[in-house]
Amino acid sequence: MDKKSQIIDREPQTIEEEREKWCEHIPKIYQETYRRAMAGKSKAAGIKAKCQDCCCWQRTEIENCAVPTCPLYPYRPYQHHDQKRLRHPTESNLTQKEAHHGAV
Ligand code: SF4
Repeated sequence: MDKKSQIIDREPQTIEEEREKWCEHIPKIYQETYRRAMAGKSKAAGIKAKCQDCCCWQRTEIENCAVPTCPLYPYRPYQHHDQKRLRHPTESNLTQKEAHHGAV
């Protein structure tokens, strides 16, 4: 049996056990976010948990993420309000002066 077939044929309980085992290696303060994400209760928790995993649970690494091509980049947590506003300018979130002169 190839690896792909093994994944498809897995018992759901085995997947749950694997997730719990994975969760045990996550720093304790981030485990709840992972559990909420994996329970399918929050897309925001899913994005947050993925970014935390991607950056080895280093908040500043997520904040300063250097991969603007990542599909999660606009949604990643820990962005400063001003950074978010200037990276994704819309007429409604720019001041009249910024909109007139070009904020970015
Ligand atoms: S947005 Fe940045 S931190 Fe989040 S998953 Fe993508 S590359 Fe990783």
